[in-house]
Amino acid sequence: MTRTHFDVVVVGAGPAGSAAALALARAGRSVCLVERGPFPGSKNMYGGVIYGRVLDTVIPDWYERAPLQRWVTRRATMVMTPTQSLTVDYRTTAWGTAPYNGATAYRPDFDAWLAGEAVAAGATLITSTTVTGLVRDGRGRVTGVRTDRPDGDIDAEVVIACDGVNSFLAKEAGLHRHADDPRHLTLGVKEVVSLDPTVIEERFGLATGEGADFEIIGCTRGIAGGGFVYTNHDSVALGVVLRLSDLAEAGVRPEELIADLAAHPAIAPLVAGGELREYSAHVIPEGGFDTMPELGCPGMLVAGDAAYFCLGAGLWLEGVNFAIGGGLAAGEAAHRALERGRTDDTMVADYRRRLGASFVLTDHENLRRAPELVLSDRVQFRYPALVCDLVESVFTVTNPEPKPGLVRLARRAARRHGVPLRHLARDAWRALRTYG
Ligand SMILES: Cc1cc2nc3c(=O)[nH]c(=O)nc-3n(C[C@H](O)[C@H](O)[C@H](O)COP(=O)(O)OP(=O)(O)OC[C@H]3O[C@@H](n4cnc5c(N)ncnc54)[C@H](O)[C@@H]3O)c2cc1C
Repeated sequence: MTRTHFDVVVVGAGPAGSAAALALARAGRSVCLVERGPFPGSKNMYGGVIYGRVLDTVIPDWYERAPLQRWVTRRATMVMTPTQSLTVDYRTTAWGTAPYNGATAYRPDFDAWLAGEAVAAGATLITSTTVTGLVRDGRGRVTGVRTDRPDGDIDAEVVIACDGVNSFLAKEAGLHRHADDPRHLTLGVKEVVSLDPTVIEERFGLATGEGADFEIIGCTRGIAGGGFVYTNHDSVALGVVLRLSDLAEAGVRPEELIADLAAHPAIAPLVAGGELREYSAHVIPEGGFDTMPELGCPGMLVAGDAAYFCLGAGLWLEGVNFAIGGGLAAGEAAHRALERGRTDDTMVADYRRRLGASFVLTDHENLRRAPELVLSDRVQFRYPALVCDLVESVFTVTNPEPKPGLVRLARRAARRHGVPLRHLARDAWRALRTYG
């Protein structure tokens, strides 16, 4: 790299950073995208399903060009105990055709592709380079970044920090109030097992090229969290997401929980014979709206997981689309600020306004109570067993005894699991308010 001054430096070539760089390059700005890995995506992992429609406006034919594995046409939500499971299993052909819904993808492929789009639009990508800190002027305004490269600092009018959940830059700028609080962070751990594509399609009941997404609750012993199973072209990803504060106390190793999941009667037949290809782990910011940091300061904006944009709301675990949406908004706000010659607090206010007008902050604000509800003790540790027992008793034929009424069975199950009916009713109301 010979050039050391750009309009904007974007730190981190994950989905947020590449989207920001793409927006800026398209607007004609000089933008440098700095990534510590040898290529974009090389250090990144997730579940994972990508909801790419956020790209419609910037890459209209993304669904033909992005390196995707399978279009998800089967979406199941499962509650389980070690010996039982109940599944709401939704299938549709609508998601298997344009404009599409979610698709599985490998992050090294997807992130490298999105960064490539930014480069094609004119961004400068620098890999194998770690940003080690911020450069500021005498009044504290951010004016660039320090790197571990021999040729050192990069100056910029604006720095956009897209350096992921542990964002050292957002912390250095003093933007986080909840950084590193283990109650708001989960650890995602996953295994990828290789299986023949036709075996995957047979076992999951899929047509060629179609995929499945299973979200699971009740599979994490005494740790708040959940599990997932996703189908790629020739592999299946299965994993768990565990609240860090619980994990630290429980003294359980995450791989034991994945082994439990892989051995569960509802999951074992799906992954039997699969050969372990990869094991990985990554922290997820799941605290939602109330745990987000300040979104910037003079000379700097924060986007993606660095700003806790990932949405972990039980029914949804979406981070890539929120990262892209946030990155695009950051790029547009930085461009507008440069036009106005005001990269101060007005830039941050404009960025916030743009996010507020998009799904990124709107969804988070609407669902701000979801993380607390989803990770609450009753939802995590009592309801899965209660629901499974209730359904088991409904389907158990007790002849010669006549069938007991449903209300009686519900009362009995609630009593057995120590949940007064009024608490059930209150949680149902809370759920309606949370998701309504
Ligand atoms: C187990 C798990 C399952 C998930 N499942 C899903 C899912 O199915 N669907 C979904 O949409 N989301 C999912 N997510 C969330 C999703 O992965 C994140 O929300 C998303 O990756 C955030 O993108 P980002 O660009 O903000 O950050 P990241 O993807 O973390 O990218 C940050 C980038 O910055 C680079 N970087 C960091 N520090 C520096 C530095 N100092 N200098 C230079 N470069 C640096 C990193 O190498 C990386 O490339 C999951 C996450 C996990 C962990």
